[in-house]
Amino acid sequence: MSTASSPRTKIRRIPENAAYDRETLYAIIDATYLCHIAFHDDNGTHCLPMACWRTGEYLYIHGSNGSRLMKQLAGGLEVSIAISHLDGLVLARSAFNHSMNYRSAVIYGQFQKIATEADKSTAMDAFMDKIAIGRKNEARGGSQQELGATIVLRIPLNEAAAKVRSGPPIDDEKDLHIQAWTGVLPIVAQHVTPIAEAGNDVAEPEYVLLWTK
Ligand SMILES: Cc1cc2nc3c(=O)[nH]c(=O)nc-3n(C[C@H](O)[C@H](O)[C@H](O)COP(=O)(O)OP(=O)(O)OC[C@H]3O[C@@H](n4cnc5c(N)ncnc54)[C@H](O)[C@@H]3O)c2cc1C
Repeated sequence: MSTASSPRTKIRRIPENAAYDRETLYAIIDATYLCHIAFHDDNGTHCLPMACWRTGEYLYIHGSNGSRLMKQLAGGLEVSIAISHLDGLVLARSAFNHSMNYRSAVIYGQFQKIATEADKSTAMDAFMDKIAIGRKNEARGGSQQELGATIVLRIPLNEAAAKVRSGPPIDDEKDLHIQAWTGVLPIVAQHVTPIAEAGNDVAEPEYVLLWTK
């Protein structure tokens, strides 16, 4: 996709930062564990954080079958989903030209319920792979009861937009004489040293050893 897939995904504000290609969208999704899902019901408009992962052309979420959110989304409610990564604070010469560097995505559509236990299990394995490759072979798998109590949903990624800002501040010509420090204060989400649970003496698997690499 090189152009917006629908009128509502057409980025109008600073359109030069828009990206509609799958590579950019997938990279933004794959770099996150979280999304925020907005939906509207009889009690108003809500926006809730959820864990998420991507397999192919779908974004997946899971939750309890007792959850209002999951029940409503499984019923085909319209949603808008936001994912964002903050890469830096951008400091300009004037207060109103300060900005942020970021990568963000907005997805629209309706979730579909994963119907069979086998497909649910496959989807949940993909989630475990996202957490750590190989982990699904070490942790106890979900029981039939656990899978039965879980709703797994997926949404196609065909109505989405990405927006990316990078680089230095953009000052007005008339402000260039102002003697203030300008530039970017970068921000990264960092992997730090894993903390083994007290009393757990199992040798560290590769994904733990490599966590900070
Ligand atoms: C970390 C972060 C901080 C931000 N802080 C501010 C702020 O303080 N003030 C501010 O005005 N804006 C901020 N933005 C940008 C903001 O998300 C909007 O893009 C901007 O406000 C324009 O909104 P709009 O409704 O006029 O956009 P329009 O361009 O009219 O939006 C049209 C459509 O484009 C898509 N779209 C819009 N924004 C995004 C996006 N960020 N990512 C993916 N798709 C998008 C959606 O589908 C939307 O419906 C921030 C973005 C991020 C990621």
